[in-house]
Amino acid sequence: MTLEELGEVSSEAGLPSYSAKQIADWLYKKKVASIFEMTNIATSKRAYLEKHFETGLTPPVQSAKSADGTVKYLFPASGSFVEAVYIPSAERATLCVSSQAGCKMSCLFCMTGRQGFTANLTAGEIINQIQSLPEAETLTNIVFMGMGEPFDNTHEVLKALDILTAAYGYAWSPKRITVSTVGAKGLKRFLNESSCNLAVSLHAANSAERFSIMPVEKAFPIHKVIELIKQYDFSHQRRLSFEYIVFKDLNDSYQHAIALAEFLKGIYCRVNLIRYHAIPDTPLACVDMKKMEAFRDTLNTRGIICTIRLSRGEDIFAACGMLSHADAVKTGIRN
Ligand code: SF4
Repeated sequence: MTLEELGEVSSEAGLPSYSAKQIADWLYKKKVASIFEMTNIATSKRAYLEKHFETGLTPPVQSAKSADGTVKYLFPASGSFVEAVYIPSAERATLCVSSQAGCKMSCLFCMTGRQGFTANLTAGEIINQIQSLPEAETLTNIVFMGMGEPFDNTHEVLKALDILTAAYGYAWSPKRITVSTVGAKGLKRFLNESSCNLAVSLHAANSAERFSIMPVEKAFPIHKVIELIKQYDFSHQRRLSFEYIVFKDLNDSYQHAIALAEFLKGIYCRVNLIRYHAIPDTPLACVDMKKMEAFRDTLNTRGIICTIRLSRGEDIFAACGMLSHADAVKTGIRN
């Protein structure tokens, strides 16, 4: 709950208005597991709160560890399950969180899309993936790149971002949080209401090619996304990046790199190239590292900062595009 919502709860419980801040402190700073531990709230009021509310903390029910140290966790949420991926490295520890159980966007290269949509997560279920993570205290970065399209669940995602970044909440720097989108309808609201970083799943600068792998291109064409983005300043405070999965013979040529550089000209951004992680029954294939490096170099020489993102957790189906309830069942990660 936001501070405002906790204020409503306090008033409903007959508590003074400053209790909202006290409850927020217990939940988000002291991170208590039960309402009864909130010892500066009168016992009778705590009993009332216990009867009507819960902290919502639910530990993961399953985990799988990759040879590279990445850990995939399975959390119950909204009557289904979602996956969150903990990615430690020498300089940082990142958590990739889910915003929906499944997804409606049907991107051709993504197992979550193939699973279909089950439910929108609540802000509590999103934050639970962070607070109930066994490595929660080591986290330095959060990315909304797990299951689901965040701006198809804008209200709850923005609420979670508020609680994560507000002084009354976890007080995370927005610079350490990135929200990734294919370009859905809630993007404008996010740009107006949050200062967290933005990542756009681009994958093709050409509309027809993008549509062939991302049906969302029809409802939210990428040129509209770019028009909107151009109205905001990404030169300081927050970062804009474009994600580009490189597919063999689809978007990997020198001409594609030139077209991409042209497409992004004048936009303060960076491009992350991602290796395609093969999923069954698609005509898509990945390219070798040499090809990815050539693509990167073409962009760099045209003034676009471009890096190749290291693949993590592929052996446990935790890499980009591989999260899926159905797939985990099939492979025995979950029963
Ligand atoms: S890539 Fe993202 S938006 Fe596309 S289907 Fe997968 S989870 Fe949904």
